[in-house]
Amino acid sequence: MATFFETSVEFLKGVGPQRAALLNRELSIFTYGDLLQHYPFRYEDRTRFYSISDIADEMPYVQLRGTIKRVDFHGTGRSRRMTAQFSDGTGTLELVWFQGINWIATKLKPGVEYVVFGKPTRYGTKWNIAHPELELSSAATETRGSFHPVYPLTEKLRARHIDSKVFSRMMREALQQASGKIYETLPARLCADRGLMSRAESLHSIHFPPDLNTLNRARRRLKFEELFFTQVRLIQMKLLRKEKFPGQVFNNTSLVNTFYNEVLPFPLTAAQKRVIKEIYADLKSGKQMNRLLQGDVGSGKTIVAFICMLIVCGSQAQCALMAPTEILAQQHFHNLSRFANAMGLPIALLTGSTPKGARQEMHRLLLAGVIKILIGTHALIEEEVRFNRLGLAIVDEQHRFGVAQRSKLWSKSDNVFPHVLVMSATPIPRTLAMTLYGDLDVSIIDELPKGRKPIKTVHRDDSHRLQVNQFIRDQVSEGRQVYIVYPLIEESEKLDLKHLMDGYESICRAFPDYAISIVHGKMKPDARAFEMDRFVRGETKIMVATTVIEVGVDVPNATVMIIENAERFGLLQLHQLRGRVGRGADQSYCILMTNSRLSADSKKRIDTLVRTNNGFEIAEADLALRGPGDLMGTQQSGIPDLHIADLALDGDILREAREAAIEILERDPDLKLPEHEVIAAQLRKNRKSAMNWSRIS
Ligand code: ADP
Ligand code: MG
Repeated sequence: MATFFETSVEFLKGVGPQRAALLNRELSIFTYGDLLQHYPFRYEDRTRFYSISDIADEMPYVQLRGTIKRVDFHGTGRSRRMTAQFSDGTGTLELVWFQGINWIATKLKPGVEYVVFGKPTRYGTKWNIAHPELELSSAATETRGSFHPVYPLTEKLRARHIDSKVFSRMMREALQQASGKIYETLPARLCADRGLMSRAESLHSIHFPPDLNTLNRARRRLKFEELFFTQVRLIQMKLLRKEKFPGQVFNNTSLVNTFYNEVLPFPLTAAQKRVIKEIYADLKSGKQMNRLLQGDVGSGKTIVAFICMLIVCGSQAQCALMAPTEILAQQHFHNLSRFANAMGLPIALLTGSTPKGARQEMHRLLLAGVIKILIGTHALIEEEVRFNRLGLAIVDEQHRFGVAQRSKLWSKSDNVFPHVLVMSATPIPRTLAMTLYGDLDVSIIDELPKGRKPIKTVHRDDSHRLQVNQFIRDQVSEGRQVYIVYPLIEESEKLDLKHLMDGYESICRAFPDYAISIVHGKMKPDARAFEMDRFVRGETKIMVATTVIEVGVDVPNATVMIIENAERFGLLQLHQLRGRVGRGADQSYCILMTNSRLSADSKKRIDTLVRTNNGFEIAEADLALRGPGDLMGTQQSGIPDLHIADLALDGDILREAREAAIEILERDPDLKLPEHEVIAAQLRKNRKSAMNWSRIS
């Protein structure tokens, strides 16, 4: 039986089947519960009256009290308008109507006191308010003296006259009926300790706040609750895995020692050593590892991954490394083969383009335990790929993979679970990391190898084209290599490809003496690999490409990254692209090419990049500019659907909620204590509604 909150919104007074269908379709509001969770996104302050003389530039909506002195009509036809002089003793402003003039004209009564509400704009030397809300001051009204909720709506809803006022009425009705039925979802002690308002009060106050302070407390409570339950889920997952899945024990470091003393071509950074220690502690702990390894582009994650593989191979187990693109998988294979061969460890590459025969042979050798290290793309998680004993599964550039793919790696050998290491170069703001990877332990490489010079970044437009070309020429004549990257997105693929080809041709014309590579996603994988290879070997000096080179590609001799139409890339993507250079000892450069006219947001993005090389700073700026939903590649990777909390703004509440969740689960992992029953009950409800397919219309 449906509980009160699961009752279809159709049965609410003033809704009915037609409006209900509209609410379903437009806002995914199906039940009373959904409706009450449709929170206002702002409020109109009707608690205070302004004086006309107080009005200054850039004011939001204001409420005024005064009388209408005169009404005038101007123009004819479509340019017809009506004005009214409105005065409150401190000054006069003009009310303007362009539509519904005849009707409004009959209603306006000169000399009577009105309450006017609207957004003032300056018109010449005078203020006016177009299409104000107008109400007789004497009319008793529920609206005066409070904050008015303004709800997120759609065009279709507005067209059917469902506006914020209608929503307010529905909310009032629903809240009235809900009286006494709103149950608490957080333990009483938690609410008391953290000063959280009750759920019932906060639901009332979020829709109809009596004052600003109460509104803020209601908001905090609802945000806390939302974030708390996402954290409880993640932390439970983490604890469960630790208990349920015993980890294989790897404590033989003899291969690592040999490698360290005889093969490794450079000293490790202190940060690399630290994270290897952290991972080694997990590998020998007897518990299954689930760890995120974060490190900015070029911080040297690959070698860390390889050393961890050596620990695992030292105990005769196997390792897998999954990369998001074919190019990257090839590059890993190429780089790691040298080391693996030196250590006498059989290594193989498995991608979508591995021929069938070779693939079958590989399957056999994996199952027999002969191949010790397997590098690959998605092909690696296909059903037929089985290991003899998979000890460690590494996922590179995790943000490209969904959580579901990550978990597929777990079941690759019978009866044993591999340790899982997820590597990401995407600097993730802490709030987002806690939410996306809240079930993982985290290691961070916060240091670049010695001798790297910070990349110099500049912003140029088309008028600098010749200078830029001269700069390319200078660099190439000094033996360096250059990337030129063009945007290519699906929506404008044809046009983008044309720009890329045009760009390629003009580069070929400008540099007739150099061999030039071109790489884009529409090429066949072998053709792409061939071009990539030529560039890696230094046979071609300039690489014209789309973002296929974005992830992980490593050519230390490349020192210039030119990004065309840089305004079309996201901040993090620009940062990732820039990270393709600055990998060797030479000074590297990034040139952001744009049109001369830029939107304010584009300008901010470009300026941020010019100002800093710090990935975390860039990630924070990106989060602030775009909000979490848009973060590159994270769309499907499990950012929860948040109604009220905002990961860009609510870091403090998130930290508090996570802390509370950890405290509770450490004391009571199964939520068995009576005081925690409210949490367990809410988790059951969430699970149930997540599985309720009927809601997908
Ligand atoms: P990322 O963390 O972006 O994956 P890579 O693992 O590709 O970075 O490393 C970038 C480059 O730095 C590679 O050429 C690698 O060989 C080199 N490198 C890694 N660690 C060190 C180190 N400690 N000293 C010098 N060079 C290093
Ligand atoms: Mg990498």
